[in-house]
Amino acid sequence: MKETLQLVFLFLSFNLLAQDYSVDLDYYLPTDVSYNKNIPTPKSIVGHEVGEWHITHDKLVQYMYTLANTSDRITIEDRGETFEGRPLLLLTITSPNNHKNIDQIRKAHLSLTDASNNNSNLNEMPAVVYQGFSIHGNEASGSNAALAVAYYLAAAQSTKIDELLENTIILFDPSYNPDGLQRFASWANIHKNKNINPDPNDREYREVWPGGRTNHYWFDLNRDWLPVQLPETQARVKTFHNWYPNILTDHHEMGTNATFFFQPGIPSRTHPLTPSKNQELTAGIAEYHAKAFNKLGSFYYSKESFDDFYYGKGSTFPDINGGIGILFEQASSRGHAQESDNGILTFPFAIRNQFTAALSTLEAAVAMRPQLLEYQQKFYKDAQKEASEGGAIIFGDEKDATKVYRLAEILQRHQIKFHELKEDFSKNGKSFQKGYSYVIPKNQKQYRLINAMFEKRTNFQDSLFYDISAWTFSLAFNLDYEETKSTDKLGKLVSKLKMKEVTKIKNSNYAFLMEWHDYNTPKVLNKLLEKGLRVKVGLKPFTLENKDYDYGTILIPVQNQKLDKNEIKYFLLELAQENNVIITGVSTGLTEGIDLGSSNFKIIEPQKIALIIGDGITPYDAGEVWHLLDQRFDIQVTKLDTRTLDRVDLSRYTDIILPNNRGNTISDKSAKKIKIWVENGGSLIGYKNAGKWFNSNELLKIKYKTKKDSAQNISFEQKDKYFGAQYIGGAIFETELDRSHPIAFGYKNSKLPVFRNSTLFVEVDKNSYNNPILYTKNPLLGGYISKKNLDKLKNTAAFKIGRLGKGKVIYFTDNTNFRGFWYGTNKLLMNAIFFGDEM
Ligand SMILES: [Zn+2]
Repeated sequence: MKETLQLVFLFLSFNLLAQDYSVDLDYYLPTDVSYNKNIPTPKSIVGHEVGEWHITHDKLVQYMYTLANTSDRITIEDRGETFEGRPLLLLTITSPNNHKNIDQIRKAHLSLTDASNNNSNLNEMPAVVYQGFSIHGNEASGSNAALAVAYYLAAAQSTKIDELLENTIILFDPSYNPDGLQRFASWANIHKNKNINPDPNDREYREVWPGGRTNHYWFDLNRDWLPVQLPETQARVKTFHNWYPNILTDHHEMGTNATFFFQPGIPSRTHPLTPSKNQELTAGIAEYHAKAFNKLGSFYYSKESFDDFYYGKGSTFPDINGGIGILFEQASSRGHAQESDNGILTFPFAIRNQFTAALSTLEAAVAMRPQLLEYQQKFYKDAQKEASEGGAIIFGDEKDATKVYRLAEILQRHQIKFHELKEDFSKNGKSFQKGYSYVIPKNQKQYRLINAMFEKRTNFQDSLFYDISAWTFSLAFNLDYEETKSTDKLGKLVSKLKMKEVTKIKNSNYAFLMEWHDYNTPKVLNKLLEKGLRVKVGLKPFTLENKDYDYGTILIPVQNQKLDKNEIKYFLLELAQENNVIITGVSTGLTEGIDLGSSNFKIIEPQKIALIIGDGITPYDAGEVWHLLDQRFDIQVTKLDTRTLDRVDLSRYTDIILPNNRGNTISDKSAKKIKIWVENGGSLIGYKNAGKWFNSNELLKIKYKTKKDSAQNISFEQKDKYFGAQYIGGAIFETELDRSHPIAFGYKNSKLPVFRNSTLFVEVDKNSYNNPILYTKNPLLGGYISKKNLDKLKNTAAFKIGRLGKGKVIYFTDNTNFRGFWYGTNKLLMNAIFFGDEM
């Protein structure tokens, strides 16, 4: 009784004095070891204790270099830079002895992924563990824990740590997302109170748009491991293939009221290409986390949420590459301390949990080392057996070398072998040409990854997905594609990928022509317009000097331009060479079809583009447009914030893009302004939910299918699952194009795969010429959709356009720029921008 009372008293007094949330380094560190005094503590370098302030990326870098300079257990490399120029660091941490032979160790480890190698002595090989932190910049406890973890690994002294360093190679990535971490650290630090205030309403815990989650262009870096489109991912995927880690960890945060999550995730949602042994090992590793958290007194859970389906996530990517990916999710304090269902959640507490999970991972790696190495070796031996069925994948586009190159680049980043095409051939109405096609032989080490990238799956064990359910790369790139049983189309192995070069163009004193198919043509067109050249677009196909020109061919007349004929020639040559597009001089205007002087060639005006961003706008969708225009096409875009929209002179812009948003984000005053701007000749381009706003502001009439479903025979327990199954997390559908409509210019095939993650179903226009992009009768190409939704989607419109005064309102039901790797539909937006006037 007395003891209980004392405990209550202690608890009360602690609460009364609980204003001070500060801790020192000992709070994080194990006490069963001693610490090398020669290794500087984080505080001695960065000027504050771990968890006292949010670490900024520059200070994190400073500390990591300091450790590498003072510890013979650590080497450091700079693997490139983010969009904002921050270094992408990697520390290699192991025993000094291993460091001496690091390249030998690496080669021996790699031999485990070579199915023909039988000599590996697993007993003498260390396990390789890749530890990465805070890929979402505002889930900062990971990168802050990295300070303490790195210190521990550099400074701790005991036989146990010697054993750890002898038996593991730790690839330590202290910040997966430097730009996001920096953005968030600034936010949390500028709002920190001297008297830390855990009130969730304090601005410290309420980030403003776009928040620190994403990278510079507002991409979720934890979806890019498979597409590898962003510099951060490119650096780490290179490291991955350099080492093939046995375990890769990904330290995140989740809602403030949660506890701590470690994988395994929901078992039924594991991707079927992942061997079941992977999940068994994940569960084995989990026991080490559980033990460590029990000791610490921290609560946790596993298996009830998150999954291992989409291979583009850091914790799932290793699963198709012979390793084990582990996701950690810590309840977020967001700022320095916040009230939660579990009491005050302090930042140091969150950091300590991450620290603990990092160490329990290493403990598991040492204890399970032989199993992990064996598993990896078996993964590649089994894959090789499957691969011996042989066959090949051929992809190409005889009109678009750039897009073909971009997909080949992804293959190369994943160390997938591919070949040139041996000779031109045609099949099923598609023509594959040398230089515009590649062949992937399936009989190779990366057989399973190839399947994961190219398969079209429509049957699933579960109907719920944490992320997208399909990502077939040939569809995302809208490339011609064939699978063959033989490998007789295999030409030379591509060892160094090179873009198909354009070295010269045919000269002319009359006119130049550029077909619109190549991915880079919008970039070239924009450069021509910026230069002040008069440029036209052909609304119909024609044949000239034995060459067929498709819809949307760009015409550059030579006479009466700002540049003289030589300047034009050299400017065009430069553009053609830089962008690898084909531009041809012609000597006559007389064609079979529309002549070059025909009124079916329409003048293209220079475009001045604005993109609406800010509160309520989906940052990813806005960022993808920004990235596309700025990075891919070198087109200037003005980002207009919803906050200041009603004070902006819109007459400066020819196009305004409104990305998907949650509605009610634009003030009535701004809405009126936008309407007047359209009536005066502007082109308003909207995506997904923007259509509802178009409707309510009478900008464009869109009829959505609104029939609501009701649940039949669904119990309370099944409720979430039922509604979840009606959600389209992301799948691929087939549309039919009207190739004569300017929105479809540059598309050589009449079928176009599109990505969809919404349940907006738009009724077709009663005039068929107004339906240039329609979902087909059987539209599902890959991924999950409920039967009810599939029935609704059939034969609906993916695109709407309407005239308003002198202007146009253009609407896409779906995101044409998804995650920067959906190259196949990017041209739709460019057509809306450049050819809107002709629609
Ligand atoms: Zn996260």
